[in-house]
Amino acid sequence: MHTPGPAVSTPQSAPRFAVGLTGGIGCGKTTVADLFGARGAAVIDTDRIAHGLTAPHGAAMPALIEAFGPAYATPDGALDRARMRALVFSDPDARTRLEAILHPRIREATAAAALLAGGPYTIFVVPLLIESGTWRERVARVLAIDCSEDTQVARVMARNGLAEEQVRAIMAAQVSRARRLEEADDVIRNDAGVDALLPQVERLHRFYLDAAEKLAGQPSQRL
Ligand code: ATP
Repeated sequence: MHTPGPAVSTPQSAPRFAVGLTGGIGCGKTTVADLFGARGAAVIDTDRIAHGLTAPHGAAMPALIEAFGPAYATPDGALDRARMRALVFSDPDARTRLEAILHPRIREATAAAALLAGGPYTIFVVPLLIESGTWRERVARVLAIDCSEDTQVARVMARNGLAEEQVRAIMAAQVSRARRLEEADDVIRNDAGVDALLPQVERLHRFYLDAAEKLAGQPSQRL
């Protein structure tokens, strides 16, 4: 195991040990994050934060309506996801504009949630952690949840009722499994049942607890 690296810090708080949890669609990020949460880790799910920003009257909605027009909002004031997905799929400039609105707001809301987090350490769930670039230096460890591509396809088809080619198209737009594993400090294999996750989560939870304690015990690193 590597020595723990940097931690998320803010002017208001001592640095906290932070882990970035990532993985391809359907690999089991939420399932694994919940197991860490049950052991006391503070779990911050950036996908849920992003969804909240574009939910009915979410904080990003005024800026999105201004940039794209009211046709991109549903009658209840949420983002019309299907319409926006179709637009950004065919128009890279629209994707850039969408991300310019969403990304800083996601960062801000994530930082605010991190400030409020209890528990001995924080796990940020970031589906596109490897793709996004800026997360790597914000966390001490990158934890990849890994499973075979066939397992991913089967899980997402069962959960979302999508056709195999739709799931494979989403996977093709994400970073490759090999690249994700290369970038990860820690890996949890999730091809078997949930029982097979428990010892892996236990082992890493103890490792993260130790690292968090060491970080907290280093006065020179406190702000
Ligand atoms: P997404 O990228 O779509 O947000 P995710 O990586 O968070 O997905 P989960 O939602 O945790 O993945 O899992 C995907 C589906 O597979 C869910 O229906 C979940 O219940 C199921 N699943 C995850 N892990 C296992 C497992 N070990 N055994 C059986 N089913 C599992």
